[in-house]
Amino acid sequence: MPNRIYYTCGTLDRAAIQRDDEAWVEGRRTGDGAFIVPVWRDKSLVVQGDNPEAGFVSGADARALVDMASDLVLLGIDGEASYFAVDISASDLPALSPLIGEADFVDLREPGPLMEASQGAMLAYARGIIHWHRNHRFCGRCGGPTESRQAGHQRSCADPACGREHYPRTDPAVIMLVTRDGDDGAATCLLGRQPTWPARRYSTLAGFVEPGESLEAAVAREVFEETAIRVSDVRYLGSQPWPFPASLMLGFRARAVTHEITANKSEIEDARWFTRTQLLRFEEDGYHLPRRGSIARWMIARWLEEGDDPVFVQPV
Ligand SMILES: [Zn+2]
Repeated sequence: MPNRIYYTCGTLDRAAIQRDDEAWVEGRRTGDGAFIVPVWRDKSLVVQGDNPEAGFVSGADARALVDMASDLVLLGIDGEASYFAVDISASDLPALSPLIGEADFVDLREPGPLMEASQGAMLAYARGIIHWHRNHRFCGRCGGPTESRQAGHQRSCADPACGREHYPRTDPAVIMLVTRDGDDGAATCLLGRQPTWPARRYSTLAGFVEPGESLEAAVAREVFEETAIRVSDVRYLGSQPWPFPASLMLGFRARAVTHEITANKSEIEDARWFTRTQLLRFEEDGYHLPRRGSIARWMIARWLEEGDDPVFVQPV
């Protein structure tokens, strides 16, 4: 049963209550159980191979990385171990290479789904929160510089006349598998593609939630905007943190009540109805499913399993 969504299986205690105790945080950072999770220009440190692993750094190398860092965030604790993300984007690779052993800085979306789930989740979390720090150095209200607080879980405007507090941003996005009943033939699902994707890749429709909008309304609006299909019976399936750079994907199923597709070319290049049979032969026929590790892939795999002849489909 493909019931696991990647980047959701973190076992870390985020220590939200202890975060504002600076002495406790400092004790954890300088203790023997401290591990550094470096992020360099949105890339994560990974020991590559058939079973890639997170490149955690400890000891003297960890202290050197902290000295180079522009930001440090307590990710959380796991027993005696403490994990801190650091932003070392200002350093060049030659300066970093003696400190990172056999590991490399890579885009987590490639090795992430192959990693042990809690490690992948932690690297995604580190990448997301460091990205937020890098992009919120100035106050959105007064334009003054901001300073990190709460072990990296808040930034505050340094101008006392303003003093506005800023918290890490997560942008909600809905992603939906729209299906048609098979009354007059085989059941189908609606997939589309964007022109920037690799050739012949199709995936579920998706879009950002707007202010003042419910998730269900966002599902119906996005599907209609992109394909002119009307939907009903919007049902929540599950969520996936997608900090690439700052999204939270909220997965839904919806039932189509119309069937004529008009692809909105300003949003998508193409959209089509696919049967389960077509999707099971997808790669053979020269098409591509969404990226392994994505909630889109997970939702499609679940729908394939519901068919008359259930088959196990590797979801990731
Ligand atoms: Zn301000």
